[in-house]
Amino acid sequence: MAAQYRITILPGDGIGPEIMAVAVDVLKAIGKKCAIEFTFTEALIGGAAIDATGEPLPEKTLQECRQSDAVLLAAIGGYKWDSLPPQQRPEAGLLGLRAGLELFANLRPAKILPQLIDASSLKKEVVEGVDIMVVRELTGGIYFGKPRGIFSDESGVRRGVNTMVYSEAEIDRIGRVAFETARKRRGKLCSVDKANVLDVSQLWRDRMTKLSIEYPDVELSHLYVDNAAMQLLRAPKQFDTIVTGNLFGDILSDAAAMLTGSIGMLPSASLGASGPGLYEPVHGSAPDIAGQDKANPLAQVLSAAMMLRYSLNQPAAADLIEASVSQVLQSGFRTGDIMATGMTQLGCRGMGDALLQAIAAM
Ligand code: NAD
Repeated sequence: MAAQYRITILPGDGIGPEIMAVAVDVLKAIGKKCAIEFTFTEALIGGAAIDATGEPLPEKTLQECRQSDAVLLAAIGGYKWDSLPPQQRPEAGLLGLRAGLELFANLRPAKILPQLIDASSLKKEVVEGVDIMVVRELTGGIYFGKPRGIFSDESGVRRGVNTMVYSEAEIDRIGRVAFETARKRRGKLCSVDKANVLDVSQLWRDRMTKLSIEYPDVELSHLYVDNAAMQLLRAPKQFDTIVTGNLFGDILSDAAAMLTGSIGMLPSASLGASGPGLYEPVHGSAPDIAGQDKANPLAQVLSAAMMLRYSLNQPAAADLIEASVSQVLQSGFRTGDIMATGMTQLGCRGMGDALLQAIAAM
């Protein structure tokens, strides 16, 4: 009997609908190959939701997402909504969705595909074979800690304040996701903190070290964040899985991603303790190329592969999608953003067709 999954799809704005259409076609094709039946329900988020309902995250969308096995999001935002107040902007829809699904773990892979090695700004011998997963805590730390704000003293001098705070429970739950992730990969976990200066980091390091006793098959190491940033650029191959807090993870996941040199290729996953995970490309809605059939759909397609791997427990289907992406690149097909001399340039739809052909031939 076919495995059955209910997927909420959120095409969003800009290039979102174009890249989502490709990802859905790919999932349907993979479903046929791997005996998986998907029920797709489309819902509104971001600017598209503002235009239709006045809100960036309608309650109906959140309910639909909560009832599904996983959520596949494209991207939100665009010039049209930039002048709205922050709470009514498309971005508020995304933050609301992350909060509403209680997604505290963000997984960002940075993998160098041999076909795109020249897109990296680093030397080939430095980045060849890089395959890193950054696990970032997403709902705590300095972005949410209190007190926060800009305060004036009696003489009118202002102080800006944010608070970096993590409880043991918050550290443990992100730690467990990271150890489990490392276990599914090459069994190496590097915890990044600033324990030489920050008390919150000392607790972080202490908890990670204690947790490691439960995961004897995972080799744990620790780095200070400044050294981690240097090592990512100097010798990125030493890393397998990295776990870190919200602020350090925000910065390091972008740095790691850029080792690959191509924003149109980067997927991500956000996971909670239970309930559906959220899968989306790292890039935005690219309003500058929206509706022109120029978008690279591969980050969206690779996000669908992550969904199969991390939420639906269908690693063979995920492998097939990743293999089809490698195959089209190997055949010399490129979208404009990753175009190189001697390659064949395709539009978003054309790249989708090439993927379907590659899957059909597998
Ligand atoms: P962006 O990622 O949308 O675009 C940056 C540059 O990369 C642009 O030149 C764009 O054309 C290009 N690009 C991005 N994705 C591409 C793809 N798949 N194929 C080919 N080229 C691609 O970032 P931005 O321009 O800073 O933001 C545009 C809008 O997206 C803003 O409204 C922003 O708020 C929003 N945004 C949304 C998300 C999200 O939905 N998670 C993330 C970042 C930005």
